[in-house]
Amino acid sequence: MRRLTADRPILGMTSELGQVMAAARARELAGERVLHLERGEPDFDTPANIVEALAAAARAGETHYPDARGTLALREKLVEKLGRENGIRCEPDDVVVTCGGTHALFLAFQALLSPGDELLVLSPHWMAVPKLVAFAHGARYRTLPAYLDLHQGLVAPEAFADRLRAAVKPGTRGLYLNTPNNPSGAVLTRAQLQAVAEVAIERDLWVVSDEAYEHLLFDGTRHVSLASLPGMAERTVSVYTFSKSYAMTGWRVGYLVSPPELRPVVGPLLSFYTTHGVFPAVQSAARAAVTGPQHDVEAMRREYQQRRDLLLAGLEGQAEIRVPRPRGTFYCFADVSGALGGADIWSLVREWLSFGVAVLPGTAFGPEYGHWVRLSLATRREDVIEAARRLRDRYAARTAAPAALGAARGNPA
Ligand code: PMP
Repeated sequence: MRRLTADRPILGMTSELGQVMAAARARELAGERVLHLERGEPDFDTPANIVEALAAAARAGETHYPDARGTLALREKLVEKLGRENGIRCEPDDVVVTCGGTHALFLAFQALLSPGDELLVLSPHWMAVPKLVAFAHGARYRTLPAYLDLHQGLVAPEAFADRLRAAVKPGTRGLYLNTPNNPSGAVLTRAQLQAVAEVAIERDLWVVSDEAYEHLLFDGTRHVSLASLPGMAERTVSVYTFSKSYAMTGWRVGYLVSPPELRPVVGPLLSFYTTHGVFPAVQSAARAAVTGPQHDVEAMRREYQQRRDLLLAGLEGQAEIRVPRPRGTFYCFADVSGALGGADIWSLVREWLSFGVAVLPGTAFGPEYGHWVRLSLATRREDVIEAARRLRDRYAARTAAPAALGAARGNPA
């Protein structure tokens, strides 16, 4: 019999996260304790007012086919939020409620990418992006390393604009931007975003701006939405989700705001075609999330920041794992070149698993990151502390000798 699986790139793609989770699970079944720093899944429950709003809406009969664009009641509140928090002025018809940020990105790429088009993906990038591009028939992507240099101030905005200009080829139609960035924890400044805007306008590119972590900011860092910059709203699709801010990963609800030109495509056509819309009662709960008290969002943000501090402090005293201090999200992206000693990243990931620390290899976030790993802070505080302890124990002895010679380096701030 001929093989059943169709010959499409997306059907042959694998998941690094799936592989690490399966290996971790196998160890747990054998009775070992594994500290789960591989997954970006908030360990908090959804705030009670949101759960209550869902129950009340379901009881009130909000159980019928939804508007493919989303309920007007929610979209009106999202328009207010986008104006107030993101500086994006739009109308309810520019907003589409989606099954989470993933679906919003899917819709954006479906709407924007023609066969043969190239998307320039700033990296390190969220690992689902290659798959979402592969769903867009005939489209391609190329990565451009950006966030680590921007985060560490290694490239000035003007030089970054030049780097972008040099990367744009004739087939390049758009950019995928993600700030705050998963996995590096970089949060782009207004000046850095202005550089992106300048090149996008000059080269007539559209931008998909993924702002999934807009509320998870540390040390007073501010989030700037690209679409709020002059000339950008008409060429930017901005993507948001309730998953991270409100610990609502399982609810599958997010939204996008796009230029008016995309109105007939993204909502009525694509959203209808892919999901037939989002459960109306979930949309009422999402409305309760944006209009209700925000203290739970702040409490979770503070906890992630403390976990970041605990992880970085716990890694002091060794030099093999070096973490540029994240300014947002709930991840730490660590340079492990010193720990690799010539081995490949998967052997390091497996070695760490052997002492119970599960992380993701940097290659999940772009081909350039074979000497990096991502550690997630979206796991219990005790587990973050214990993971740091195990890692420090693994490497501190190696660092101790040069330390005696006065050559020890702590983690860079
Ligand atoms: N964008 C980024 C950068 C993410 O990290 C994620 C989730 N990990 C998403 C979008 C999508 O999340 P969801 O579909 O749960 O809204």
